Amino acid sequence: MAKSKYEYVKLYETDDRLLPGCWIVVRLDGKGFTKFCELHEFEKPNDLRALCLMDEAAKAVVGEFQDIRMAFGESDEYSFVFSKSCELYGRRASKLVSLVASLFSAAYVRFWPAHLPDTPLAATPMFDGRAVLYPADSTLRDYLSWRQADTHINNLYNTCFWALVQSGKTTAEAHAELRGSLSDYKNELLFSRFGINYSTLPERFRKGSVVIRQRVTVQKQMPDGRTKQKERLEPVVLHCDIIRDDFWRQHPELLA
Ligand code: ATP
Ligand code: ATP
Ligand code: MG
Ligand code: MG
Ligand code: MG
Ligand code: MG
Repeated sequence: MAKSKYEYVKLYETDDRLLPGCWIVVRLDGKGFTKFCELHEFEKPNDLRALCLMDEAAKAVVGEFQDIRMAFGESDEYSFVFSKSCELYGRRASKLVSLVASLFSAAYVRFWPAHLPDTPLAATPMFDGRAVLYPADSTLRDYLSWRQADTHINNLYNTCFWALVQSGKTTAEAHAELRGSLSDYKNELLFSRFGINYSTLPERFRKGSVVIRQRVTVQKQMPDGRTKQKERLEPVVLHCDIIRDDFWRQHPELLA
């Protein structure tokens, strides 16, 4: 096809191909979710329905892009790890980030009614996204450890904060009481004042969500009416420690 005289504008596009041979992490985070949670009256500190919805949207992303090795989510954020050898869209950052963010947002809206059937969606959820490169496996593991440590720190704080607020403290008083406190103090506060043993709270809240692909057996209906067992790799959600070595020893394929 003949080129138009306008074609030159294409030259203004910049090259944003990500370095080869590095892990690509695309991290999404909900925009203004503090308000979004209030608007939809999410339970504090953790609304289980909303967390399950995040996991469902993440599974849709992992299911779409075979190059994603795993994902980790907590609160209103999710990180997707693309393999070092990923060649999707020539590793163009804008393509990868925009596709992940738009698929995730669209899935979040699509699956909302199934997870929060009694809460009409009253705002348009948005997720920002960024791509970060990690050249070394050990740094990728440190990245994921950083996010899971963050899950724990935030959850311990929020559990104390909301226990104090529900016991009658103002939000300012609750923040003041917790400011600068160490985790031992918070654990003790939960146990002695509220009878909560932090380590028995659901792992989903304390450790966040890990999405990996696992072999599952599915029943397939054949045209002649018989059913056949088939094995398939499907995204599954786990709530487990990914900081220690055990998880990585059990799933050597993730870093291979
Ligand atoms: P920004 O646009 O800068 O990200 P934000 O308001 O989204 O602003 P975050 O630091 O991302 O700020 O915090 C997200 C907030 O949403 C936190 O207060 C967190 O507790 C809350 N939140 C997210 N998911 C849930 C949930 N499932 N249940 C209860 N609260 C949640
Ligand atoms: P890619 O993922 O590379 O963008 P694509 O299939 O989306 O692949 P495009 O070049 O973006 O390729 O083309 C979009 C296609 O969708 C075209 O064939 C276009 O005619 C069709 N299309 C888009 N909007 C409409 C519409 N409103 N009505 C009919 N066809 C449409
Ligand atoms: Mg943010
Ligand atoms: Mg946010
Ligand atoms: Mg956040
Ligand atoms: Mg198109």
